[in-house]
Amino acid sequence: MPVYQYKHLAPTDCPLGESFDTVQSMRDKAHATCPRCGAPVRRLISRVFVATAIGDSQLKSMGFTKLVRRDQGVYENVTATGRESRYMEAGKPETLPDLKRKIGD
Ligand SMILES: [Zn+2]
Repeated sequence: MPVYQYKHLAPTDCPLGESFDTVQSMRDKAHATCPRCGAPVRRLISRVFVATAIGDSQLKSMGFTKLVRRDQGVYENVTATGRESRYMEAGKPETLPDLKRKIGD
């Protein structure tokens, strides 16, 4: 989901600070007021979702699969769950991440 930046319209002592980031679905409407202090806020230009700023365990809990190249033709699935193989090797289909199951979730 994309990250949006909001800014309080007036100077504030809100615990979130003058401006804050929030993750929202693209279907959600922009907040008109701060979710923390209730003061009016304005949504700034949306920023691109940066996957590298998110930890592997968070990616995993969000249902993403991240592969890290470890050697020629060998990738580590750092978000492996359940019966998934931790390492994916070229030419070994049984080591492929179980993407079908994740998409169906
Ligand atoms: Zn606030």
